[in-house]
Amino acid sequence: MAFGFSRTRRTRTRVPASCGLTISQHTVIEFDKVSKLYPNETIALDKVSLRVESEEFVSIVGHSGAGKATLLKMLLAEEAPSEGAVLFETINIHTLKKNEISRLRRRIGIVFQDYRLLPNRTAYENIAFAMEAAGREDAEIAADVPHALELVDLADKALNFPHELSGGEKQRIAIARAIVNQPDILIADEPTGNLDPLNTYDVVQILKKVNDLGTTVLLTTHNKGVIDSLKKRVIVMEQGKIVRDDEKGKYVL
Ligand code: ADP
Repeated sequence: MAFGFSRTRRTRTRVPASCGLTISQHTVIEFDKVSKLYPNETIALDKVSLRVESEEFVSIVGHSGAGKATLLKMLLAEEAPSEGAVLFETINIHTLKKNEISRLRRRIGIVFQDYRLLPNRTAYENIAFAMEAAGREDAEIAADVPHALELVDLADKALNFPHELSGGEKQRIAIARAIVNQPDILIADEPTGNLDPLNTYDVVQILKKVNDLGTTVLLTTHNKGVIDSLKKRVIVMEQGKIVRDDEKGKYVL
């Protein structure tokens, strides 16, 4: 199992490369001519078409107001498109019922610029809480939280509270929490926005590791150094449109 977690792997992408199987990639996210017109007449997305394959690492860059947040909100079913369709695998996200949306969201892990850890819980408890919320058994929680802590190289900080962690450590705990339920996609929304270069490097290394283990990663960032060091696909947005989509892109705005 990719993360060494207890649960049976759910998707094809989860089989570790070392087992010698050939794993076929498949489209996990598709935007088909998606437009979003907010009630105040702002065109936040303008006929955006985009495909992301399983196990890709895709960075989305663009000036403030370019439409990045709106794109992510569509994936999480927080906003509905005015036109077009957003598909998760073959599911049209915006035709889902409420309980199906909850299930969809469980397949997507998220980390934010401001970490959003629970301040009065330890690192361990923050990660365990995500598993409890997903209805996981105590035995699974006891088995998987230590693996998640190891994955982000913070086993020794399990009992620290967030105020006892550096910014980079807080973000690594947030990543552990986001992946502990083995999502298909990890969304990292400006995850290094509050970090110094050293902590930024550590967080990017962890994101790469998560991706290498089979999780599709969507990163939004303003950090030129991060984009250039990743050498992965870069999508540039401008005024609600995708204006560049480069394999192994560089940061050009
Ligand atoms: P980014 O994440 O790239 O900064 P956003 O998706 O937040 O871009 O915003 C795209 C455009 O949509 C901007 O012009 C913004 O002002 C507008 N916008 C975002 N959210 C709303 C909203 N809830 N209501 C009206 N306009 C919005």
